[in-house]
Amino acid sequence: MLYLHIPYCHRKCTYCAFYSAVTSADKQAYVDALCRELADRHTEQPHPLHTVYMGGGTPTILSIPQLKQIADTINNYYDLTQLCEATIEANPEDLTPQYLQGLRSLRLFNRLSIGVQSFSDADLMILNRRHSSQQSVQAVVDAAQAGFDNISIDLIYGLPGQSLDQWRSNLSQAARLPISHLSAYALTVEEGTMLHRQVGQGRVALADDEMVLSHYDALQQWCSQEGFAQYEVSNYSRQGRRSKHNSRYWDRTPYLGVGAAAHSFNGTQRRWNIADVKRYVATFEHESETLSPTDAYNEYMMTALRTVEGIDKQLVDIRFRDVLERKISRFVQAGLIDDTPTHYQPTPAGLLQADGIASDLFELP
Ligand code: SF4
Repeated sequence: MLYLHIPYCHRKCTYCAFYSAVTSADKQAYVDALCRELADRHTEQPHPLHTVYMGGGTPTILSIPQLKQIADTINNYYDLTQLCEATIEANPEDLTPQYLQGLRSLRLFNRLSIGVQSFSDADLMILNRRHSSQQSVQAVVDAAQAGFDNISIDLIYGLPGQSLDQWRSNLSQAARLPISHLSAYALTVEEGTMLHRQVGQGRVALADDEMVLSHYDALQQWCSQEGFAQYEVSNYSRQGRRSKHNSRYWDRTPYLGVGAAAHSFNGTQRRWNIADVKRYVATFEHESETLSPTDAYNEYMMTALRTVEGIDKQLVDIRFRDVLERKISRFVQAGLIDDTPTHYQPTPAGLLQADGIASDLFELP
């Protein structure tokens, strides 16, 4: 698994807590550095790659020649004979027919993840998005026409002022588009974001829990009507179209991450590159830590409980199995977890409370 981080955006969305720089500066020095890191660290990925994911930030802020330079470097240093999925995150306003043809010509990406967020222009303005609803619709249609048959879109629900009918209308619009995957997130307010300040100053009023829950219920209904199945708290797909890359994160497959702020995991150790473009380009600064058995157990609880498959009992370190069985029994009794012979599986109600349940199952280091 290979992850590439492109830490640039055209502008900052109000809710965004990811590391990304808003700049019109030339990005070539960053692309050159990323390619150097790809070359330098290729021996850390001795096996053929199954998935590639380019995220951000906004990867489609790069020109096609810059993306080609990265694609060529991957081709030169990595074994792609078993590659089955290569995703690039994209913002709708970048996906002109010409740019889409350029993406196809790279012969790397076979999946697009498009940051639509809402089909309402009023919502997009509140979120400080750069595109219109019409641009999003056109981008998905043009992407399908360009030959992308595996398209995901992101939507956010529980937005300030968003009624249930408005959310349903977003879902109806999504159903009319040629998509095979939907990532749908409840809006969260992270410290340090513009949204956090706006809420603190009383300029934006958040949706209440009841409204957010009604949006979530509408989403579940939409899924069963439209042939999508939930496979993680925020992810829904048509048959056979789960994100292979993200699913592997959740079952703790090792991965290599390159670029500023990118994380890597080799099975026992996590490494993260510095979240600062200038210092990344100049020095490739990074830090790492070896996970203790307790860290690994806690991480597994956090990720596995967000998936419909839940906790695979065989993947739990034998040292923690008894204590897990004791702690999880109250969630089983409360109908939040199904105890099957092989798994502890969250029920639909349990999935909604996944993070809270996981933190109750944590062990102290
Ligand atoms: S485009 Fe994505 S990464 Fe960039 S600011 Fe908006 S949400 Fe954050």
